[in-house]
Amino acid sequence: MAEPVHRCGLVALVGRPNVGKSSLLNSLVGDKVSIVTPKPQTTRFRVLGIRSDADVQYVFVDTPGMHRDAPRAVNRLMNRAATGALTGVDAVVFVVEAGGWRDDDDHALQMIGPTEGVIVAVNKVDALKGKDSLIPHLEALAARRPFAAIVPVSARTGDNLERLLAAIRDALPESPALYPTDRSSDRDPRWHVAELVREQLMLRLDQEVPYSVAVTIDQFEELSKLTRIAATVWVERSGQQAIVVGKGGALMKEVGRAVRLELEARWERKVFLQLWVKVRERWTDDQQHLRALGLDET
Ligand code: GDP
Repeated sequence: MAEPVHRCGLVALVGRPNVGKSSLLNSLVGDKVSIVTPKPQTTRFRVLGIRSDADVQYVFVDTPGMHRDAPRAVNRLMNRAATGALTGVDAVVFVVEAGGWRDDDDHALQMIGPTEGVIVAVNKVDALKGKDSLIPHLEALAARRPFAAIVPVSARTGDNLERLLAAIRDALPESPALYPTDRSSDRDPRWHVAELVREQLMLRLDQEVPYSVAVTIDQFEELSKLTRIAATVWVERSGQQAIVVGKGGALMKEVGRAVRLELEARWERKVFLQLWVKVRERWTDDQQHLRALGLDET
């Protein structure tokens, strides 16, 4: 069974002050926010937020000009452009307003330089009175230079963000996740779930297998009546997969039930927990996979 391609990379949101970069970042990262301290060797950019989906991890990084308190940001940006401020970033999202183009947008675009594959997010579509002005604006944008995509969005209402994410994903390289996908902080409930699953497995398995087991949380949704969680138990070999799944899935059922009961008692709400067991060959040898699985937290 082929796994879908996983992509991961650094994403910069660039644009003049006040176009909504911070708002967009918050909306894109949303409840999946995980602000982590980047490991120094991982990136020279400051990581602002991470969004981890099943087949992609977006690492949003700071670039000059993100700060509203920097009145000369655009000038600084242009200076930095000469020294390659965006070198090493995998995707550039150029943020403009749906209301129209301004001179400062020109500066920001120049700052990006001749980088190919720039994605334009045309933000604040919710603030447009009529949509009539949007089409000419989009056409004028497209005429400026070849962009990889031009996506009208609203950071405020969340309109069209899925399309923007899809366009960003297309620009990212094939890579495992660079950051843990299953937690945003040490007290994160996702992390507790992963730990509980691991604990329950340890209780039921022989010595050798647990060391080859890692758990990631693929879905964590707090719905009105219940919390819906999907987790993957990663093993190294298909032989281990059979052991962990158990006869007719019996072991997984037991583990899932025990974890669910514990979570329901702890959170005092219903939990729907789905567990999958997947093979990731030789991941214990692969630093990046370890990182993706959150196991190199030394
Ligand atoms: P930044 O300087 O580019 O980071 O911009 P901010 O995220 O701080 O947003 C600037 C202003 O635009 C704030 O008052 C936001 O509330 C507002 N804003 C951001 N996104 C939207 C949007 O999608 N719709 C509307 N109507 N306002 C927005």
